[in-house]
Parts: sequence; C-alpha cells; structure tokens
Amino acid sequence: MTTKTTLPARSTYDVVIIGGGIMGASSAWFLTDNPDFDGSVLVVERDPTYATASTTHTNSCMRQQFSTELNVHISQFAAEFVKNIRSFMGDDTRIPELSIRSFGYMYLANNKAFADVLWANQKVQLAAGAATQLMSAAEIKAAYPFYNVDDITLGSINLVDEGYWDGGAVFDWWRRQSRERGVEYLSNEVVAINKNAAGTSVDNVTLASGEIIACGKLVNASGPRAARTAQMAGIDVPVEPRKRYSWVFSAEQPLDRDLPLTIDPTGVHVRENGGGTYQCGAHGNVDPAVDHDDFAMDHDLWQSHVWPVLATRIPQFEAIRVTSEWAGHYAMNTFDQNAIMGSHPQLKNFIFLNGFSGHGLQQSPAMGRGTAEWITYGEYRSLDMTSFHYDRIVEGRPIIERAVI
Ligand SMILES: Cc1cc2nc3c(=O)[nH]c(=O)nc-3n(C[C@H](O)[C@H](O)[C@H](O)COP(=O)(O)OP(=O)(O)OC[C@H]3O[C@@H](n4cnc5c(N)ncnc54)[C@H](O)[C@@H]3O)c2cc1C
Repeated sequence: MTTKTTLPARSTYDVVIIGGGIMGASSAWFLTDNPDFDGSVLVVERDPTYATASTTHTNSCMRQQFSTELNVHISQFAAEFVKNIRSFMGDDTRIPELSIRSFGYMYLANNKAFADVLWANQKVQLAAGAATQLMSAAEIKAAYPFYNVDDITLGSINLVDEGYWDGGAVFDWWRRQSRERGVEYLSNEVVAINKNAAGTSVDNVTLASGEIIACGKLVNASGPRAARTAQMAGIDVPVEPRKRYSWVFSAEQPLDRDLPLTIDPTGVHVRENGGGTYQCGAHGNVDPAVDHDDFAMDHDLWQSHVWPVLATRIPQFEAIRVTSEWAGHYAMNTFDQNAIMGSHPQLKNFIFLNGFSGHGLQQSPAMGRGTAEWITYGEYRSLDMTSFHYDRIVEGRPIIERAVI
C-alpha cells in the first residue's frame, strides 16, 4: 500500500464493499441513489492511488457488438448513463456533460469461420436494438481507404454509441458524490473474511490495520484480485489476472478520418486517440495468469509483433512513434468470460462483482445499478441479471461471450 491507512468511523456497516475501483464506486453510488436504501456503506480500498487497478489501465471504450443480448443491453445502459450523466446525478451542475466518440469498433474477419461468427453476432445485436452493419472488403475500403483489406472477407461495425467515453470522469464523480452522500472510503485492506459458526453468513471482515468490521452484506469488487478475496471466505471463483499491454503512438502522417477501434484478425487492436495519436493494445502469444504485482512491459512484443501488424493493416502506420506504454490486468473469467454477480448460493450475504474479462468499464453503470437493486430488494428491477449469477459456475452452465477482445 502506498498511501496512509485510514480507519473506519464505526464498527458495523450495512454494506462493506471490498475494492474501490469502478465496480465498487458504481455500486456505492447506486446504493446512495436508491430511494429505498438508507443503510450505511463502507468501501475499503487497499490502494487509493489505483496504481494497479484495472480501472486506471483501461482503453475506456464501449461497444454494443457482443454475442449475448444481455451484454448489448448492459452497454446500451452505459451509453444512456454517460450521455445523461448530469441528469442521472441529480442535475448537479458541477458534473461535466459527457459524450461518446462513436467511431465504432471494426471487427475484421479473414476467414469464413470468423465471418460466420460476425454474421451470428449481428443477428443477436440487431434483435437487441444495436445498429451493427456488416461490410464487404470493398465497402470497408471505400469508407476507410487507409486500411489494407487484401486478406479481409468481412467487417462488422456499429457507429451508434460505440467508441471512446471518459470513464475517468464517471469514476471520479461517482466517488465524489457518494462521499458527499455519506459513503465512507477507507485506505485499508481486507485481510480476512469471518463467517458465522454454521458457515452460512459473513459476520465481519478484518482490516490490515487490525479492526474487525461487521457487515450486513459484503461485496467482492476486488477486480483481478477477486479469487484471492473469495478465497478468504473459502469460495473458488474462476478469475485470473491476465496481462494486457497498451501503447499510445503518434503517426508521422495522421489518418484523414477517425480510426474505428479496429480488431485485427491477429487480436491486435488500435483506435483513434485524438490529435494524430492512436491507442493500441495486445497480449503475448501465451497468456498465463500473472502475479498481482507483475506489470513489466514486453518491449519485444511491440517490435516483433504489434508494430508489423499495424503497418501491414494500415500502411501509413509504418512511420509512428510510441509516446507512452503500460501493462494492466484483465480480471479474466476463465469459465465463460462473463460477469459473475449476485449472492453466493450458501453464503447469501457474500455478493460477487467479478470477472469482467476486459469489458467491465462499460458494464459498470448496469452492474452498480443491478448490485444496488439486488442488495436493496433481493431482485433485479431494471435489467434481469440473474443469468450472471455464480450458480451457473457451480452447475457448469457457461454463457459464452464470443466477442472478447
Ligand atoms: C488494458 C485494458 C483495457 C481495457 N479496456 C476496456 C475498455 O475499453 N472498455 C471496457 O469496458 N473495459 C475495459 N477494460 C476492463 C475494465 O478496465 C475493467 O473491467 C474494470 O476497470 C474493472 O473494474 P473493477 O472495479 O472490477 O476492478 P479494479 O479497477 O481492478 O478495482 C478493484 C480494486 O480492488 C482493490 N482491492 C483488491 N483487493 C482488495 C482488498 N483485499 N482490500 C481492499 N481493496 C482491494 C484493488 O486495489 C483495486 O483498486 C480494460 C482493462 C484493461 C486492463
């Protein structure tokens, strides 16, 4: 921990949230915004600089190109929330009006199998109200002449509410307004989760500073550390930290129009970043679980793989200069790459908010709202999220998300 430990004001809270990243922040804020919830909320964050959190390493984009209808609806709510943030947050005039830079995600297929996946996904997306368009190589070339499409058989793009948004601003305002509404944020770490004698309920948590804090409900919003946190309660959750590398570069000759977030068939992805700069992401050939503190860059990956892929797909990217780079962690759900939420089947006051597998930033408004509803009513009132509950893991019923980047 890099900052000073802070201690709780009380010894009991109705809700204790472990982790103050975007999921913890969203849940806390939606609880304060729910007229039927009047309990106390404590958010415990081991590193309030968020130096290793997923939330501060993100690409900050949203898309509606998912393979499951629920994920499309979750992102549609993100778009609604972001575009109307001020009105959602009580017409607070300090809050900036936000927008989405809708350059779209461009999935590129270079074989029939992946083209078939894009066709199938488009059906799901259209049925859910998304505006996904499939494009032939010639259509892609006409709309975006900078691409090399020689090997491309099909593209898929949606230009409505799909692209960059300011996740950092939403994160900041959720935390700020929650605090003003009485949520307590601690700079501390949960080191133990203590159950009742029958093992049917969490009684309290132990902080690194030694205090024991009783809780009505406990939310595991600990990002890539989700499995470690769940283990404290004797629960297995299939979430691993997986390394994802990002680079921002400037181009000697910037493109003449916005670059969609382009997912090359190799998996390398790159998007518009404004001002003649672009943001690119990739992972290594092997993709093991890594240590929670391993953020070392792989410089060879850029030189030997990523840059050649970029220059092949967009020949103007032969002449580029990296201006910044970093490694971050996905909280990868190895079971089905989808969210895990709701209560544990036996330990009912233990609530999951885990496994976002690289698409959690955009899911944070719907996840926070859903978690607040689950805590307050024991059911979902806006969007039914029960299919994301932990039961499916125990029962071996994966909801495979085929559109993971
Ligand atoms: C490179 C990269 C690009 C991404 N791009 C996108 C994107 O374009 N769009 C998108 O939607 N998503 C994207 N994501 C995913 C998104 O960033 C995450 O899904 C999201 O930020 C998860 O938030 P979280 O709150 O669950 O986790 P985190 O942000 O990791 O927060 C968890 C917090 O819990 C704290 N914590 C852990 N254990 C304890 C403990 N025992 N006690 C106290 N505190 C604890 C940690 O310190 C941490 O701050 C990307 C992720 C990465 C890494």
